[in-house]
Amino acid sequence: VTFMAEQGPSLELIKTNLESLWQRIAAAAERVGRSPDEITLVAVSKTFPAEAVQAAYRAGVRHFGENRVKEGVEKIPPVNAWASERGDDAPTWHMVGHVQSRKAGDVVAHFQMVHSVDSAKLARRLERFCSQRQLTLPILLEANVSGEASKYGFAAWDWEERRGQRKDLFTAVTEIGALPHLRLQGLMTMAPIVAEPEEARPYFQKLRALRDALAERFPALSWAHLSMGMTDDFEPAVEEGATLLRVGRAIFGERIL
Ligand SMILES: *Cc1c(COP(=O)(O)O)cnc(C)c1O
Repeated sequence: VTFMAEQGPSLELIKTNLESLWQRIAAAAERVGRSPDEITLVAVSKTFPAEAVQAAYRAGVRHFGENRVKEGVEKIPPVNAWASERGDDAPTWHMVGHVQSRKAGDVVAHFQMVHSVDSAKLARRLERFCSQRQLTLPILLEANVSGEASKYGFAAWDWEERRGQRKDLFTAVTEIGALPHLRLQGLMTMAPIVAEPEEARPYFQKLRALRDALAERFPALSWAHLSMGMTDDFEPAVEEGATLLRVGRAIFGERIL
């Protein structure tokens, strides 16, 4: 199956995958009385080539996610040029992985939303490049609600109990929310890898509760978005209020790299 790494999955496979994915998203939304229209599917195309993104685009996907700046910088221009040649709009590109501050300029040049703002320092760097380009960048703050050391994000696994965690978060939100070229829109998290999707639910509930607390404390800012849920746990995420799903393998198949 090494050919997959070069060309990626076929249009037919992606169409079939998307159909069943949307059915499951809609069913999960329905279970809790939500409209599937509130949910944006971000197809995480990391490790898959531009051809796979183009196939997903042809199947109707308009939002794509990458977790590495370098890979995005290589993949995004050819995909956008391809769309333009067809007379179509470029897709919206979401940065979903950790960004080193020194890569902030590349992110601003290529991505239209950043889910993974995990420090005030990164936010300040993004602000600087957005200001130079005179554009406004929608962002989310990544929160570590599990306490796993391997996870990026603002420490928030104990925000209800620990004043220190709350205080640090409030300080960061105060600063980042005031940056004129960034548009804070909500929170993002990655749940731990668990055996059953249901085990991820408490982390999604925790992120939503944190969002609600921040919305109460900072009512002038927008808290509309919760970016949570991946291939293995998007159903509980939808039930707990996700507005942005970041799904890779359920669309493109298993990653080889
Ligand atoms: C890879 C990745 C995803 C998608 O994971 P799948 O299990 O392939 O759905 C979502 N979010 C982030 C930050 C990722 O790195």
